[in-house]
Amino acid sequence: MATYPKVSLAAVLKEYDQPLVLEELVVPPLEPGAVLMKVECATVCGTDVHIQRGRLPGAQIPLIAGHESVGTVIAMSGRDRDANDQPISAGDRIVFSYPWCGSCYWCTIAGQPTLCEATRMYGWGPMTESPHLTGTFSELVYVRPECNILRVPEELDPAVVASTTCALRTIMHGFERLTQTGPVLPTDTVAIMGSGAVGLYATAVARRSGAAKVILLGAPQDRLEIGSSWGADQVVDITATSAEERRDIVMCLTNGRGADIVLDCAGPVAAFEEAMELTRRGGRVVEIGIGTTDPGTISPYYLNIKMISVTGSVSGAIRHYHRALGFVRSNTGTFDFGLLNTRGFALSDINLALAGVESQEYLKPYIEPSRR
Ligand SMILES: [Zn+2]
Ligand SMILES: [Zn+2]
Repeated sequence: MATYPKVSLAAVLKEYDQPLVLEELVVPPLEPGAVLMKVECATVCGTDVHIQRGRLPGAQIPLIAGHESVGTVIAMSGRDRDANDQPISAGDRIVFSYPWCGSCYWCTIAGQPTLCEATRMYGWGPMTESPHLTGTFSELVYVRPECNILRVPEELDPAVVASTTCALRTIMHGFERLTQTGPVLPTDTVAIMGSGAVGLYATAVARRSGAAKVILLGAPQDRLEIGSSWGADQVVDITATSAEERRDIVMCLTNGRGADIVLDCAGPVAAFEEAMELTRRGGRVVEIGIGTTDPGTISPYYLNIKMISVTGSVSGAIRHYHRALGFVRSNTGTFDFGLLNTRGFALSDINLALAGVESQEYLKPYIEPSRR
């Protein structure tokens, strides 16, 4: 067996609103069930920027940032199969889920592991707790025993795979929640709010779900163009329209009724209210990827008189990672998923990548720790 690595370079957030700093950290010894993964590629998420800016109360500094990745098994202890019952050994390419504890009420009786309160999410810190190597902007990542892992086919593009571990698995969870309220019918119009990675993946999944019409509302224009190429029949630039105009456009496209299904992947609380306006009477709304606890002002009128059903989802369990990988694998010839990942960086340039996400210059840049 190869020698166990002693140190790993990692990008550390020590203070909010400050650049990440590269540090050489000691690699913790493996406990039973844990995996040491060498990061092949880690994609940057809007959440990483929110954490850097101190906007997410759950984060605890100092922390190793980053939570989306694909990598190679360097060492394992007491684990030899993935969640799909495939054999796993050193050298295999994997993705991993957050460490939902697997034994609390939420993980077991409720069957909703993404509500687990005992988890320690990757990229959220604190790195003062053992095992500290739990962020993906790092050469090596300590995959905790509670994390589920999945083997990844070698032919898939690494940046696309890394993107599935957050944006697309989140959408797979959102669609699961949607279909718990009924199927997507071949006559349905699906409107998607938000053209970040989550909204764009929602567009592709909605297209493949069999819906008759897919409408994407977002900005800027280059993201809407990706949406068009991923199956949106109509795109609406939110920087060139008022909420009223957007409502008129959606009404016009739906015989004056509104969309059967609205997937709100936009982020701001105000988008939720707009989603209610874009949905037809008796239609369905799914809230995905909001991440704010700001209060809104939604009237019960929408649920009562308009009879809209609202559901939502957060993050994803391992089955959603599995579906996300399956989706990119079976649709690689249909959609150019690499359009999200236009720019790669070395680990030392992590702050450029974060700044590019914040300024919307890059959609989902990626870090390759082996790049110099
Ligand atoms: Zn993410
Ligand atoms: Zn749990």
